[in-house]
Amino acid sequence: MSDRHIYLDYNATAPLAAEARALMQDILAETGNASSLHGFGRAARSRVETAREQVAALAGVQAPQVVFTSGATEANNMVLQAFRGQRILVSAIEHPSVLEAAPDAELIPVTADGVVDLAAYEALLAAGPAPALVSVMMVNNETGAIQPIGKIAKLAKKAHPQVHVHSDAVQAAGRIPIDFGALHLDYMSLSAHKMGGPQGAGALIVAPGARNPRLLFGGGQEKRQRAGTENVAAIAGFGAAAEKARENLDEFQKIATLRGALEDGLRHMEPETLILSHGAPRVANTTAVILPGVRAQTFLISMDLEGIAVSSGSACSSGTVKPSHVGRAMGVPDAQLEGLIRVSLGPGTVRADIDSFIAACSKVMARLNSRP
Ligand code: PMP
Repeated sequence: MSDRHIYLDYNATAPLAAEARALMQDILAETGNASSLHGFGRAARSRVETAREQVAALAGVQAPQVVFTSGATEANNMVLQAFRGQRILVSAIEHPSVLEAAPDAELIPVTADGVVDLAAYEALLAAGPAPALVSVMMVNNETGAIQPIGKIAKLAKKAHPQVHVHSDAVQAAGRIPIDFGALHLDYMSLSAHKMGGPQGAGALIVAPGARNPRLLFGGGQEKRQRAGTENVAAIAGFGAAAEKARENLDEFQKIATLRGALEDGLRHMEPETLILSHGAPRVANTTAVILPGVRAQTFLISMDLEGIAVSSGSACSSGTVKPSHVGRAMGVPDAQLEGLIRVSLGPGTVRADIDSFIAACSKVMARLNSRP
């Protein structure tokens, strides 16, 4: 293994931002339940409320609209569970924390470029009873494709004024500007650890007047919207990361140049390389590629041995590798999906990392292709 490890899996989790880590270390040495009335409690409360302001600023909302959760999985479940038994439309490329929380939802198809098919969506809106909820992610975690979420919400509300619209914005926050109000959304989910905050913290953003989707009961925390003692250090770390991500939003766009170099390098090495969602608007850091004749699992293990961390596009659960449901929804044949690899860059990525990636990739490909 090379002496320097290169991390190109930011969509799985991003390194903890220095500001978040320093703040969390301080808070871990403090005592205080944010619900207690004494000075210790009030100090903890103040940490939580500062973070609420910071997260609200990133989302373009007022602080009282932010409900802290244990992550985006919980935030997604809160919304989807609240509408169980009613008609729900979700896109076919949602994260499992949406899809599995709404097993009876109707799936909105996507185009070959991995963007919600608006004509098919309008047909679903027009057919049958009014849906109670529409849930479409803002950016897909595998391809980086940006969904026309404002349009999706507007179409839903035009057809059915009572409908609620939710967006999982985990892979969008800190990567593209978000103005929750302008998007006509009722709910939005965020996760701290994709933007330099800690794992195990997230938020549900709720529009003023929208119904309050509760999942956890048993305490008055978060204005009775989410029971359970607040994880003060994690929430504060989330706030610090959100503030930094907001400040660095313009800088983040420069990552697209590195992503372009990576894609050019791959195509130069292997002209048959397929880049998913290449024709769609994408966030700056993500590329999902299919390398012909390569099995993603073998490839990523070989790359790991070269000191480079990337992800396969398939879900591996209980020992079986399932082809990516995102790739399938885009109409990519299963045989090709075996070669789906996701490379996701971040603010810490430099040009030398891309060069090392391409060099390691040529080496690994040559070795894999020379096998009988
Ligand atoms: N939604 C998307 C699009 C994600 O990428 C993830 C993380 N893989 C989640 C939801 C879940 O977030 P968390 O890890 O905070 O539960």
